[in-house]
Amino acid sequence: MNSVAASVVVVGAGLGGLRTAESLRAAGFEGAITVVGDEPSMPYSRPPLSKEALSAGVQVAELEFRRKPSVADVNWQFGSPVISSDLAARTLTLADGTQLAFDGLVIASGIRPRRLPIPGPEAGRYVLRTSHDAIGLRNYLAPGRSAVIMGAGFIGCEVAATARGLGCEVHVVAIDEQPMIRPLGAELGRGLRERHEHHGVDFHLGRTVQEFLGGDHITSVLLDDGTELPASVVVEAVGSVCNVEWLEGNGLDLTDGVLVDQGMVVDFEVPIVAVGDVARHPNSLFGNIPRRIEHWNMPTETGRRAGVSLAALLRGEQPDQGPFSAMPAFWSDQYHHKIQSFGMPGIATSSQLVEGSADEACIFEYSDDTGLVGIVGVDRTAELAPYRKQLLER
Ligand SMILES: Cc1cc2nc3c(=O)[nH]c(=O)nc-3n(C[C@H](O)[C@H](O)[C@H](O)COP(=O)(O)OP(=O)(O)OC[C@H]3O[C@@H](n4cnc5c(N)ncnc54)[C@H](O)[C@@H]3O)c2cc1C
Repeated sequence: MNSVAASVVVVGAGLGGLRTAESLRAAGFEGAITVVGDEPSMPYSRPPLSKEALSAGVQVAELEFRRKPSVADVNWQFGSPVISSDLAARTLTLADGTQLAFDGLVIASGIRPRRLPIPGPEAGRYVLRTSHDAIGLRNYLAPGRSAVIMGAGFIGCEVAATARGLGCEVHVVAIDEQPMIRPLGAELGRGLRERHEHHGVDFHLGRTVQEFLGGDHITSVLLDDGTELPASVVVEAVGSVCNVEWLEGNGLDLTDGVLVDQGMVVDFEVPIVAVGDVARHPNSLFGNIPRRIEHWNMPTETGRRAGVSLAALLRGEQPDQGPFSAMPAFWSDQYHHKIQSFGMPGIATSSQLVEGSADEACIFEYSDDTGLVGIVGVDRTAELAPYRKQLLER
């Protein structure tokens, strides 16, 4: 068993882990930083994995983030996940038996796709989270092949658009009544469905997959209404699970990710912060209710704050208790359409079309009893600035 001394260990070599390491350095932390990643690569950008990189062929090196010179001395350890932790003793155990000690810990382990227990062959089933997933999936996306996509959220719809662009027959199967209905509402969901249908996607909404059929490899998919769809490949895009198993047994609140305060600090006796997709954090723009936000800009925003907090804790100081008020932002590319969101449209109780029409370029406002909580534009992204300002003034 190896034993490596470490001052700060970051678990998860994604965007959140990288940005927290950079923030620690910017906040004056000069101790050793070790980043442990279970993937074999430096932190890279995931959004292209369902869009241009999936279409063109994934070159991971081209997706790597530029890293600030301040983290040139970080020790990157790849390929073996952290499998358990004793946080009070400040130790982590990796799958290869390595033990790491830490003075401060960054939880940046993100999420993974949910898998449903559906009977049938395994070969031909794909999820999409890593470059490895995308490379495997890309091999199946060729003209004349049939792709069945389970789930009509953003990732399912982006893969549908990419697969159509590559000449596949595409079926989307989802329990929801419209695609992307939870974040965007029924009216815009319908408008986006019509765009997909115009490009030749077949939707099977209100339906579930009952069984995968075939010998060694999936050849078709059986729906709950008896419909059988041909399938060269199935993409499962039905939600996510937080990567928190390695934290179990320490008494942390892991109900939905890792609960943190406005400084991204975990309520524990040793200095620990959590960032990115796995962090359930309050946001003063949205009532300070702790929520996880799986949006691209949040690993950077939470990482920036967490690095400052952790550096303070390691100096024996109290972290900044000021509110966390970063604006969640999300974009999606489907065909030539650009969808851009600010705020949290998914928590709204009502939505209203304010410009354009749902099946063309448009802007929707999303509100709850506190007022405007989100804004979404389709092919009107340049015109969202005043709405964003309004959201920031909440
Ligand atoms: C296909 C796809 C498309 C997307 N498109 C968009 C988009 O268009 N717009 C948008 O706003 N957002 C998009 N996102 C979301 C965005 O990419 C995420 O919000 C962001 O990557 C989260 O960063 P993170 O650092 O929190 O987690 P991650 O990037 O997931 O990094 C976590 C890392 O930790 C590793 N890890 C997990 N457990 C362990 C362990 N026990 N030990 C060691 N390492 C571990 C993981 O393997 C991973 O490498 C997309 C995501 C995907 C997957």
